[in-house]
Amino acid sequence: MSNNKKNITKREFIKYSLCGLGGLALGINSIDLIANHVGKISGRGGMPPSDELWKWSKEAMYYIETPRGIKCQLCPHVCVLKEGETGDCRTRVNNKGKLYTIAYGNPCAAHVDPIEKKPLYHFLPSSKSFSIATAGCNLACLNCQNWEISQSSPKDTRNYDLMPWRLIEECKKYKCKSIAYTYSEPIAFYEYTYDSAKLAKELGIKNILVTAGYINAKPLRDISKYIDAANIDLKSFSNEIYEMLIGGTLQPVLNTLKILKQENVWIEITNLIIPSWTDDFDMIKKMCDWLVDNGLNEYPLHFSRFHPMYKLTNLPSTPTSALEKARNIALNAGIKYVYIGNVPGSNAENTYCPNCKKTLIERRGYSIISNNIIDAKCKYCGEKISGVWE
Ligand code: SF4
Repeated sequence: MSNNKKNITKREFIKYSLCGLGGLALGINSIDLIANHVGKISGRGGMPPSDELWKWSKEAMYYIETPRGIKCQLCPHVCVLKEGETGDCRTRVNNKGKLYTIAYGNPCAAHVDPIEKKPLYHFLPSSKSFSIATAGCNLACLNCQNWEISQSSPKDTRNYDLMPWRLIEECKKYKCKSIAYTYSEPIAFYEYTYDSAKLAKELGIKNILVTAGYINAKPLRDISKYIDAANIDLKSFSNEIYEMLIGGTLQPVLNTLKILKQENVWIEITNLIIPSWTDDFDMIKKMCDWLVDNGLNEYPLHFSRFHPMYKLTNLPSTPTSALEKARNIALNAGIKYVYIGNVPGSNAENTYCPNCKKTLIERRGYSIISNNIIDAKCKYCGEKISGVWE
């Protein structure tokens, strides 16, 4: 061994030796994907879209002109784009001094999902959600399970023709109570989400964001008026891990949680526990304490099991013991509803009354076996159960 070689811990060895060796591991079996992935493009600086794609474009919201180019203000990356350049999310382009989204009305994935799949456990249980995504994402998680679309551009996928009015028609046709903007990252198709959610709300259809929450405050507050529920992926409670694993920073996501609470959006939080990356129980304890200190302990917290994926294919799946330990930490910290996801048959899929501890909602996967919540209360002791039940 070279004298210059830095000693690393076993934990660091697992993390760094395995990162980046994976790749073409899994398809996207869970969603109805018509988008044939035909190649990668670079992010900023990619080629401008073809004439065909301009059919699916619209002038973007939230940008200013600067002497160095157009500055997008939608997310904390605040990309500055010269003529013809594309943002890090691969969906926003500087064309002749204006910023355009090229992810408008052209989702590459569309599917009817149970609401429990988002996951949302305290929001209209057993209902169906019309779920869509365009290509693109403003983050680049090493563990992304939908990387074939999130790390692509709408230029590179085969897409549906679903302008907002048509999206609503499809939602009604399939008797869905909500539209979920999901799978990739709705912030990357913000204008499409905004216009669709506004129209849906007018027609009595609910709107759901499934997002990493990496967005600036103003656009988040603006869209919140039309959003009923959000599942926020709080990926870690370490800024360093955010930078290395995801390509973002932690504080904007914490801001998002606080803003959504202020705007009365129903929130559920997902925390994926990845061995050697996000399985530090001291960090999990700090995260739970922060949630409690900020009045977020009434909102469900889902600890989710990692399976080898994308650039982390050689990591092991999360041991169920780690998920159970995290759940106990969260419950002891004062979070009232804590679930374990991606572990079929776990009792931690069920909802328990935080007062009398009786089983309120029994789940098997995405199915509800029994529901003992009546008028938003425990049928046994009358405890109020937080959520949107009707
Ligand atoms: S939304 Fe896209 S273009 Fe805008 S700042 Fe974020 S990554 Fe850059």
